[in-house]
Amino acid sequence: MTSEIINANDIKYMNPVFGNFSFDNHEQIVFCNDEETGLKAIIGIHNTTLGPALGGTRMWLYNNEADALNDVLRLSRGMTYKSAITGLNLGGGKAVIIGDAKTQKTDALMRRFGEFVHSLNGKYITSEDVGMETRDMDIVKEVTPHVTGISEKKGGAGNPSPITAYGVYMGMKAAAKYKFGSANLEGKKIWVQGIGHVGETIVDLVTKEGAKVIINDINKDALERVSKKYKATIHHDLNTYGLDIDIYSPCALGATINDKTINILKAKVIAGAANNQLQDEIKHGKLLKERGIAYAPDFLINAGGIINVYAELVGYGKEEIKRKTENIYNTTLEIFNLSDAKNITTHRAAFDIAQNRIDAKKN
Ligand code: NAD
Repeated sequence: MTSEIINANDIKYMNPVFGNFSFDNHEQIVFCNDEETGLKAIIGIHNTTLGPALGGTRMWLYNNEADALNDVLRLSRGMTYKSAITGLNLGGGKAVIIGDAKTQKTDALMRRFGEFVHSLNGKYITSEDVGMETRDMDIVKEVTPHVTGISEKKGGAGNPSPITAYGVYMGMKAAAKYKFGSANLEGKKIWVQGIGHVGETIVDLVTKEGAKVIINDINKDALERVSKKYKATIHHDLNTYGLDIDIYSPCALGATINDKTINILKAKVIAGAANNQLQDEIKHGKLLKERGIAYAPDFLINAGGIINVYAELVGYGKEEIKRKTENIYNTTLEIFNLSDAKNITTHRAAFDIAQNRIDAKKN
């Protein structure tokens, strides 16, 4: 191939790792392959300045390997800033396993994955993410101590999702206070997109407060069950961004705030659990600010889960976990005020605080 016929896509393909748009100075990326169990995983270690890189493992049937790599890079970077802004002595890391969690996840595969985690000698500590259960972490624990999110019966803090949901709820209330003048969610129309481990608990919390809840999910059985249990309205159209709502709570996958959706969103507040909600942090962060939509930064308000798993490492009790998670309300309000005072996006305001903490440790 001569240089004349190399186009932009070819170049991107030739530099898929260090030249990847999402690479952002990762310290280490580990590709894990095991023929016997069919394991194909990528561990991303973004930054260990503040401590070992802790972040969950996601199992997902990606369209291709480039998508999987991009996802792990974006997610592990996000963990660096999440732990930094939450005041935890942890770095950022994440792992993805390529495959269908419903049909391809076996105990042998999880054990083999655990061995790869172990080979990193504690530089990376894993936990659950999409497609993982507490039980899977218990299996990983059989081969490595570098795992959190294990069950209470095995000495862990259990499933982090309810605490994550509680933190998102705190962030949502702070955003409502900022935007509507009251943290009370009674009567607010809230769309919860994705009613998995975290989303369902958010539905529960906001329903108890008297919100009118709209849900959607690709899992039809879960939709019917959650709708019946909480009297939530189902919206079957997955691309339902133009709905007349007050609050949008993305709790499925990332990048749902993008060029296609941003101009049709009618919500005045965005507060959800999904990681990396803004497809382009700078561009879409600015557009949200211009449109007067109060965006509670994802990596700030979904930190309940990491607080919960951090507790396993440092021995916090339930009270301390709850106190730290409740504090997300105050931090979110501070971020909105800082964003106004400095005329920067909320994402930038949160990011700068996190980066300052990392820089202070480096120097
Ligand atoms: P989950 O897998 O239990 O739930 C995700 C749900 O989203 C599933 O029900 C799935 O069917 C649904 N979904 C997938 N694609 C969808 C689409 N296009 N439209 C609507 N629904 C769709 O995961 P979870 O643990 O509830 O986590 C939800 C999000 O929050 C993820 O992005 C995760 O990374 C993030 N998060 C989770 C935690 C935690 O403690 N579990 C912590 C921080 C961040």
